[in-house]
Amino acid sequence: MSIRTKKVKGTLLLDGSPQSIEKAAAILRKGGLVAFPTETVYGLGAIATSQEAVNKIFIAKGRPVDNPLIVHISSIKHLYEVAADLPPEAPYLARCFWPGPLSLVLRRAEVVVPEVSAGLMTVAVRMPDHPLAQQLIRAVGAPIAAPSANLAGRPSPTTYRHVIADLCGRIDAVIIGQDCRIGIESTVLDLSGEQPVILRPGGLSREDLETALNCSVHVAGSKFMADKPSSPGMKYRHYSPRAPLILVTGFPRRQQLFIKILSLFYGKQGLQVGILNTTSGGKQSKNTAPERLAAALYRSMRTLDARGVDLILAADTISSGLGLAVRNRLRKAATRVLRV
Ligand code: AMP
Ligand code: MG
Repeated sequence: MSIRTKKVKGTLLLDGSPQSIEKAAAILRKGGLVAFPTETVYGLGAIATSQEAVNKIFIAKGRPVDNPLIVHISSIKHLYEVAADLPPEAPYLARCFWPGPLSLVLRRAEVVVPEVSAGLMTVAVRMPDHPLAQQLIRAVGAPIAAPSANLAGRPSPTTYRHVIADLCGRIDAVIIGQDCRIGIESTVLDLSGEQPVILRPGGLSREDLETALNCSVHVAGSKFMADKPSSPGMKYRHYSPRAPLILVTGFPRRQQLFIKILSLFYGKQGLQVGILNTTSGGKQSKNTAPERLAAALYRSMRTLDARGVDLILAADTISSGLGLAVRNRLRKAATRVLRV
């Protein structure tokens, strides 16, 4: 039986066939790096029990070593192997939302090497909602540490083409799947403290978490949580395009007007200006709009970069549902925020 594969600059491109998954699992078991699709963004996996394998992730991505990785598992029962001293909310939320875009921060069990957590005593764990990701983790038979499969500082990859553009020649293999359904990273929820705190808004909404927990859940870095630092990774200006991005916030109508004025102003100065579509168009319903924005956000950033624009303008978005995650990424990507 032949595996339909191709090698580009030393990186194997694998289809999603059972033989390819077995091949990818063998690479991971031997300590190699494999990128794979998930419902949020493409992940770059290494076996979470090997220090040597995990270190390769940081090298391939150019990722700062103080930015921890998320451990991916294929069944809730493995939560008890990778994390210790679980509070009751952990299995409860796992049952509510897994497989899905929720990473739980818990006390790290010894089987997970400290490099995964950048030396922290905690570990972020999630079960991805994607058949290929689940098959791969099951075939490896061990937890897989996986950050997003992009070069550090670039927008997360939502199609396999983004992975190839960033990492070909730097990793062993890429499993080719569909474009990512959600298109934005998982929500990181810290369960290691007195009360649950969102360290990074993401693909699972704060409202859904609050409904499940029947209490309000604060977001780190917000005015309620000034003392609680957000996720270690959030201090870097990442999730961002190459071109400088100006984010315009304030009343929606004024935002649109200012974007037009700025676009004309910079255009007259000879700059090529790109406008990131971050507002829900008139006909979309309030519920579906943020999901659409999330799914298109990183692809749009990369498209504008590929067009070689000198400057990107973006309007702010609503803060409900997935809008909170989109808004968070826009702020991380922005070189300047203009309040109008
Ligand atoms: P990425 O998968 O590339 O989006 O990166 C993983 C994100 O999860 C980073 O922003 C990390 O800061 C966050 N994260 C991973 N492990 C932990 C942890 N133990 N505590 C807090 N945040 C974490
Ligand atoms: Mg990332």
